[in-house]
Amino acid sequence: MKLLVVEDEALLRHHLSSRLSEQGHVVDAVASAEEALYRAAEYNHDLAVVDLGLPGMSGLDLIRQLRSLDKRFPILILTARGNWQDKVEGLAAGADDYVVKPFQFEELEARLNALLRRACGFTQASISAGALVLDLNRKHASVDGQPLPLTAFEYRILEYLMRHQQQVVAKERLSEQLYPDDEDRDPNVIEVLVGRLRRKLEAQLDYKPIETVRGQGYLFTERCR
Ligand code: CA
Repeated sequence: MKLLVVEDEALLRHHLSSRLSEQGHVVDAVASAEEALYRAAEYNHDLAVVDLGLPGMSGLDLIRQLRSLDKRFPILILTARGNWQDKVEGLAAGADDYVVKPFQFEELEARLNALLRRACGFTQASISAGALVLDLNRKHASVDGQPLPLTAFEYRILEYLMRHQQQVVAKERLSEQLYPDDEDRDPNVIEVLVGRLRRKLEAQLDYKPIETVRGQGYLFTERCR
């Protein structure tokens, strides 16, 4: 998933960015609300982690702005210990959940994953379409209980398409899931990866779940639960 991280403490920002990247996310990490607004206007994020205590525009004002711009992705706030007013105001401004600093990365990750699942209407830690099952925690795919070996990029594409089942997903959107920088994005690479993914799926399944919508993108046609 593509995440926006807004944290002014350089060390924590770096730590969040590297841990979340290791978990398979593409992370856009910025130090101010102003920069976050710019990124949010430019890219499609799936979730934002927002520190409330920021220099310049506050985290609360950032959340209000994002919501007024009709950005609907889940927002997880980071607040200082004991500052309960912050939590209440943050949730009232449009945030979905919070983590109190200092926190264990595992807690942040668990809350973030729950928000990502709920945002797509899934409440379990897995998504399935018939015999095909994705384990969202282990980032692992299987068919009829047998592991389906996918590369990290193939898995990310499949997870994204399944999370957005029955919606046309643009190639550009898939690129954003794989590469943090515009320069690295090439629609031909997505075509190659989707082609490979399709061959692996179709060798195991008796249906063809990924449809090409000419000029628009890809569609995961099966209903997922
Ligand atoms: Ca701060």
